[in-house]
Amino acid sequence: MKRIGVRPYLFITAALSIAVGLGLIGLFVARTANREVTIYGHHRAHAEVVRVADTLATLYNRRGLTAMQVGAQHFADLLDSRLLIHSVYGTFTVVPLHAHPGHPRSLPRLIAVVPIPAAGLGGGATLAVFGSPHLDPRLAPVLHAIERSLLWASIAGFLTALALSVVVGERLVGPLRRITESVRRLGEGDLTKRVAVEGPVEVAELSDNFNRMANALARSEDNRRQMVADVAHELRTPLSILIGYLEAMRDGVVPGDRTALAVIETQGRHLARLVQDLQDLALSDAGELHTALDPLDLAALARGLVPAWEVEARSHGISLAWSADAGPEAPLPVRGDAERLRQALGNYLANAVRHTPPGGRITVSAARSGDWARLSVADTGPGIPPEEAARVFERFYRVDRARTSRTGGSGLGLAIAKSLVERMGGRVGVDSKPGAGSVFWLELPLGG
Ligand code: ADP
Repeated sequence: MKRIGVRPYLFITAALSIAVGLGLIGLFVARTANREVTIYGHHRAHAEVVRVADTLATLYNRRGLTAMQVGAQHFADLLDSRLLIHSVYGTFTVVPLHAHPGHPRSLPRLIAVVPIPAAGLGGGATLAVFGSPHLDPRLAPVLHAIERSLLWASIAGFLTALALSVVVGERLVGPLRRITESVRRLGEGDLTKRVAVEGPVEVAELSDNFNRMANALARSEDNRRQMVADVAHELRTPLSILIGYLEAMRDGVVPGDRTALAVIETQGRHLARLVQDLQDLALSDAGELHTALDPLDLAALARGLVPAWEVEARSHGISLAWSADAGPEAPLPVRGDAERLRQALGNYLANAVRHTPPGGRITVSAARSGDWARLSVADTGPGIPPEEAARVFERFYRVDRARTSRTGGSGLGLAIAKSLVERMGGRVGVDSKPGAGSVFWLELPLGG
């Protein structure tokens, strides 16, 4: 089927509906006007015939039969009608002097039969008049004038409506065409194009949704670029250290002893962790990171992690302790993936150990918080400035780039924790004040 544009479509629809509408109105008005004018004409004609009969009776009474016949001739001419007078003198017809058989007005159409009130003519004397239905010739032009006005009003209405359909069509088609053009440009890779939100509600909604889609695409494109740049940057440091050491060993500048091998091993592990973190994030993004929703006790899970991390913290001169705000053994039933939760909590603990100076303190706690089960890791580290706190869960975001790169963080630990917890229907956050340590927390809905 051949497709047509919105504009011709609107044009044809408007033309057809206007034509049908105006046609029906015209027909209705013309018929009504005709009927009313005809009824009015008949009334007037009848009254006229009564008046003629009265005049003829007066003429007969005052001046006799001849005067009445002259009067009848006068009326026949004046009204362009045929008069039939029936009386004791018999029946006689009076026709207009100029009448001819083909003259339409002279057609013998009976207008009215009325009595002639003159006693001398006999009790049954009547006057019958044949002629135009109106008798009044001024009524026919009235009807024609109404018909003509209707015709002109219809033409004017038709043209105005068509002009309006063009204007409305432009208001509809203009934004649609701009959206189509922007979609085409978007398809060609231009993510900067946006459209004005205008026109009828549905078109404005379409424009708004297009803009949202373009924004989301631009954001994800920016993220992709940023991610590639960050990954390249993260890989460059350990790789250049590795290559530097290997070259130095080959050239005999650095002895290939245990110290050198330890440096190489550390950088290798760092690279391996980075690759593992990236893979976890990629899987999570693709929705392929499997997280179970098994019933478990969040407090017990966190408590189970404490002994191993206590040893790790102590090796850095930091004390690490468990503190259950809701009571030492109070269970916190939730649904989640134990392994993934250990991974998320492990990231919090690793950060706390990394950022807390020797002599500091780390406290792991579990508590109920409304409908949520909350795990917190509080430290006495440097804290995080408020403007940075919202961003530390972003990928590769670091408060102090140089320091944390050196301490071996991938910049992905918190992003992974967030992604894992959110996949289990939970949420994450940090409460911190610079100089007063940080409290990193994660929450899952209570209930097994
Ligand atoms: P990284 O592997 O670099 O630690 P994360 O995603 O785990 O990456 O953390 C992001 C950034 O958040 C860190 O680089 C650090 O600047 C900040 N941060 C995380 N944990 C703490 C903490 N306990 N105290 C202070 N800053 C922290």
